[in-house]
Amino acid sequence: MPETDAMIGMAAFQLSTFTSDNVVEIAATTLRKHGLKAAELLCIANVLGSRHRGAPKYPSRERAAKIGKQMEDFQLSIHGPYTISLTTKDPKTLRNSRTHLTLCLRLADALGASHVTFHAGSRRGGSVVRERVQQRLKEVMAKCEGENITAVPAPEVAGKIASFGDFEEVCTVAGNAGCLFCWDVAHDFARGGDVISETGLLRRLELIEQHIDLSRWRLPVHISGILAGRRGEIHHTPLDEGSGVPWRLFLSVLREQRFLDKVVIICESKATKRDGFDFRVEQALKLKSFVDSGQIDKEYRPPRPQLTQFLSKADSESDPTTQG
Ligand SMILES: [Zn+2]
Repeated sequence: MPETDAMIGMAAFQLSTFTSDNVVEIAATTLRKHGLKAAELLCIANVLGSRHRGAPKYPSRERAAKIGKQMEDFQLSIHGPYTISLTTKDPKTLRNSRTHLTLCLRLADALGASHVTFHAGSRRGGSVVRERVQQRLKEVMAKCEGENITAVPAPEVAGKIASFGDFEEVCTVAGNAGCLFCWDVAHDFARGGDVISETGLLRRLELIEQHIDLSRWRLPVHISGILAGRRGEIHHTPLDEGSGVPWRLFLSVLREQRFLDKVVIICESKATKRDGFDFRVEQALKLKSFVDSGQIDKEYRPPRPQLTQFLSKADSESDPTTQG
């Protein structure tokens, strides 16, 4: 029996007008069978308006409420579209970003989900960007309050160094805006954050406790393997491939600090050829069985550097839509 109330799950399915009852049922049944308790529903490619024929659009709140009912025993969240930017100076991009975020938060609320994970955007503009993201998060929170929405935004720690932001920045702006953030451990690792030592991890747990109201929420965590280069994230990989995300060390420190029941862990592993629902289940179960075993393994063994890490072509031209 696991001694902790760990909530582990995965990116479950795309949430759009195309989502069928059958897809929801298969995902819910499979996750339940394996004891996975959390699911992130993906709105990552959703578009606004009716211009894009064949593109996924947002389902109605009624539809979301029905899906929420089918999955009411799970800790749910939504992953917002990659087109969101809270760092932009372009008024049109900002307007669209706010619309996407508001739609996602309304759907999250209808689903019974706690938060909407999203990427805050590029960091062009220096330190002013941090202030901008914080201000815009506050505005989103005020809007949610006005509509009685209890779901909150959760900007992710970004994997690319050129994106906003690193662990400390994202944790602080979210804390100041009174919302959540998503600690993507693979992204944190890829941009050179110290998640490979116990000291680095303890410092992060301390910052979380200072800034986030853990009596109200579990902190969202993303984890996967990742291939990293000079500019940070190149792409996600299976847990034990890529550049060596220290996931065993991470889970061990969380266990020792009694932090496993303060987070909700979503596995975001990807493998180009093997990708698919079953593969994602298998990866999430790898995390779950490590946690259930009660193991403590704090020795970090970095893999031998892979040649691809030094190929700047893959590094600079990677597709932003492959970010997790
Ligand atoms: Zn992520």
